[in-house]
Amino acid sequence: MIDLRSDTVTKPTEKMLEAMFQAKVGDDVYKEDATINLLEERIADMFGMEQALFFPTGTMANQTAIKLHTQPGDQVICDKDAHIYHYEGGGASFNSGVSCKLVHGDKGMFASGQVIEAINPPDFYHSPLTALVEVENTANRGGGSCWDFEELKKIRAICDQNHLGFHLDGARLWNALIAKNESPKQYGQLFDTISVCLSKGLGCPVGSVLVGKKELMKNAMRIRKILGGGMRQVGYLGAAGLYALDNHVERLKEDHQRAKEIEMALNKLDMVKLVTPVETNIVIFELNQKEDEKTFLNHLQENKIVLSGMGNGKLRIVTHLDYTQEMHERFLEVLSKLSAY
Ligand SMILES: *Cc1c(COP(=O)(O)O)cnc(C)c1O
Repeated sequence: MIDLRSDTVTKPTEKMLEAMFQAKVGDDVYKEDATINLLEERIADMFGMEQALFFPTGTMANQTAIKLHTQPGDQVICDKDAHIYHYEGGGASFNSGVSCKLVHGDKGMFASGQVIEAINPPDFYHSPLTALVEVENTANRGGGSCWDFEELKKIRAICDQNHLGFHLDGARLWNALIAKNESPKQYGQLFDTISVCLSKGLGCPVGSVLVGKKELMKNAMRIRKILGGGMRQVGYLGAAGLYALDNHVERLKEDHQRAKEIEMALNKLDMVKLVTPVETNIVIFELNQKEDEKTFLNHLQENKIVLSGMGNGKLRIVTHLDYTQEMHERFLEVLSKLSAY
C-alpha cells in the first residue's frame, strides 16, 4: 500500500524508537522531564524566542495561542482556508469565545491591505474587537504554499500599529524554511507566537511546540492544563522530537522533489484540469469531470494507492518520510498508465 493521504501517517523509524527508549524522563507537570525541558529550550533557541511549550497536538497549541491573545467576544483575522477555522472543530469559538473574520486570500495567503480592511475600528463598539491576526505557513488548503516573507513583515507593522497579536500556525513551517531557504530566527523576530508540528513532515508519532514571548507564554501552561494537555513522563515523545530535528529536517527536500515530479506527471494527463503549483510536499489537483474522478480513484485503488478528497472535486496528495523512492517510481508508473484513458 502507498499512503499519500497525509504526512501524518508516518511511523517512527528504528533509530527514532531507539532514541525514545533512551530518553531520560520525569513528571513534566512538575517541569521535571529533562528531555522535554531540553526540547523546549532547543526550539525556543532555534526561533530566538524566550519560551517554548510542548503540546500533544497542533490543534491544542493553536487553541492555546488564540486564548493567550484574545478575550471572549474578540475577533481573529485569518484566511478563509485557515486550519484554525476549518479543522479545529470550531475550537476558536468553543475555547476562546471568539469569531473569525475570514479574508479571501489566494492559496491560503492574503495581502497586508486585506488585513487593514478586515480590522474593525476599535471605537465602533457595535462590531467585535479585532485582537489577533493568524497566518498559516505553509498553507495547507493552499496546496502547501509558502508566504512571501516581505508580506508578513508588512502585516507585522499593521499589527503593531493596531495593537494586534500575530500568531503563526507553522504546522508545516519546516517545509517552508527548507523550500525558501529561510531561518527560524527570521520568524521568531516577526511573530508573537508560533506553533510548529513534529508529527507531520518530521515524522514523530506525537507532538507540537508553541513558542512565544515570555509575557504572553506565562499563561500557556495554565491553558494547556485546562485543555487537558498536562502530561507526565512525556520525554519519550520529546526524544522523538529531538531526534527528528537532528535527522529529518534537511531531508524534507526529497519530499518536495517527489511532489514536484507528481505535479509534472499529473499535468501530462488529459483528465487533469488543474494542479495547484507545487512549492513543498502537498499536491492539490482537480479532474475535468466526475467520471474522470471515478476512473482515477478506481485505478489507484486497484494499485493499492490512497490519497484524500478535499470536497468540491479537489484531491490531495502529500509526500512524506514513509513514501520511499521505490513507491514513488511505482506511483509515477501507475499515473502514466492513466494517459491511455
Ligand atoms: C495538522 C495541522 C495542524 C495541527 O493538527 P493536529 O492534527 O491537531 O496536530 C495545525 N495546522 C495545520 C495547518 C495543520 O496542517
